[in-house]
Amino acid sequence: NIRTGAAAEEPIAPPVEINYTKLLINGQFVDSASGKTFPTLDPRTGDVIADIAEGDAEDINRAVSAARKAFDEGPWPRMTPYERSRIMLRFADLVGKHKNDIAALETWDNGKPYEQAAKAEIPMFVRLFRYYAGWADKIHGLTVPADGLHHVQTLHEPIGVVGQIIPWNFPLLMFAWKVGPALACGNTIVLKPAEQTPLTALYVAKLFHEAGLPPGVLNVVSGYGPTAGAAVASHMDVDKLAFTGSTETGKIVLGLAAQSNLKPVTLELGGKSPFIVCEDADITRAVELAHFALFFNQGQCCCAGSRTFVHECVYDEFLERSKARAMKRIVGDPFKKGVEQGPQIDLEQFEKIRRYIKSGKESSATLECGGGRFGSKGYYIQPTVFSNVQDDMLIAQEEIFGPVQSILKFKDLNEVIRRANASKYGLAAGVFTKNIDTANTLTRALKVGTVWINCFDVFDAAIPFGGYKMSGTGREKGICSLQNYQQVKAVVTSLNNPAW
Ligand code: NAD
Repeated sequence: NIRTGAAAEEPIAPPVEINYTKLLINGQFVDSASGKTFPTLDPRTGDVIADIAEGDAEDINRAVSAARKAFDEGPWPRMTPYERSRIMLRFADLVGKHKNDIAALETWDNGKPYEQAAKAEIPMFVRLFRYYAGWADKIHGLTVPADGLHHVQTLHEPIGVVGQIIPWNFPLLMFAWKVGPALACGNTIVLKPAEQTPLTALYVAKLFHEAGLPPGVLNVVSGYGPTAGAAVASHMDVDKLAFTGSTETGKIVLGLAAQSNLKPVTLELGGKSPFIVCEDADITRAVELAHFALFFNQGQCCCAGSRTFVHECVYDEFLERSKARAMKRIVGDPFKKGVEQGPQIDLEQFEKIRRYIKSGKESSATLECGGGRFGSKGYYIQPTVFSNVQDDMLIAQEEIFGPVQSILKFKDLNEVIRRANASKYGLAAGVFTKNIDTANTLTRALKVGTVWINCFDVFDAAIPFGGYKMSGTGREKGICSLQNYQQVKAVVTSLNNPAW
């Protein structure tokens, strides 16, 4: 029962070559120590795009040594902040210059619509690096009015060698959120991209070196989580860990950090974000944004509005219009013009989503549209809408990470606050109302890291993002992320003249 829109027949992206498939350590592309490789796949077909060097613990050791040397002896932390800023700005310009190739690689490896990668994600990536380049020379300490005869100040120093592990849903943006603030503060990095999507991290890291980044400052080691990822998290010479991915893996890396050298950890994990449509909401806008909040990026967003709570007075109309919108969603080859939804990332996610759909069908929820595979090859799933969803159903409790909208009915504000907060997650929420008091009440009552009022998925570089509860610890983006990548040193100097 799904109609596909009229996607243009001809692909809109330029052909792109894959030039970087090795590990980037100390400014050089090198094979993995074991000589092993792993395939990265095209989610449109399941075909191999390229074989990528498979890093493991030994390669992480090499990368950490390079990052340590670059931190302890290299020019990067010793440069003036302005010089660091200039290199970051040159990098942002180079990414802009190569944006078509980078977007094509991102779509090929991830399956997201090319237009989304080219027109939204790369501009955000560039903007984020410019934003943090702007911070590099504006990181100030304090003078502290302490008691006694002391002159007290704080020095804000880079933390050292930073380990960063990122997921596959936004390979470029997660690279930016992690690398931008860490470099602005003068740290050096070992980054492990997701095994599903290594291509763009390697490409842009090469561009960073062309922009003047000294060797060893940014090392990219592709490989699997339990080997390469775990080696980063448990390394004794990694001074800080930043992770984005599932809550389950977040617990593992936090444990590894604790058992090794107690490195501080920031975690950006899963979510089950409520999207609350009040009786006075602008329904046209709420329907469109609820659709966007869930289906954007094939539903593969940690903050997806995956519990759509709708007031009983507007429920029937909202449901009809949401269903109609989902049935019009244009699914197809992400390289084609006008396509809104490409394939899911891989077979594992595809099957997991189908298990959730099956569980929804077997419950007393109503399947309004979709519910099946789209096409016969690749990992495409029909945009799916369930109505009459109850809080205790699996589809209302667990992160599906796919194009499956769950619509729930509510009667009053206190009830929806209680139900929205009854989740182990607390990443984000959408609130749709024209009443300022309702908006203020919901904003204060919801236990989440971001509240979007009459909007959703607004990701400015300056806005902090992160979770309450099991959605994570710490905040990324904005001024908050600088704190993740600095040590604060208190400097206390004795004064010997009580008169002054
Ligand atoms: P994951 O958490 O396993 O993977 C994220 C990153 O962690 C990858 O780079 C992976 O290689 C690495 N990793 C995996 N195991 C590791 C380990 N033992 N030690 C260190 N690093 C490790 O996520 P996944 O398996 O790709 O996806 C599973 C689910 O996670 C999804 O269905 C979705 O619900 C959720 N997810 C959330 C986000 C997010 O942005 N919050 C992103 C991706 C996936």
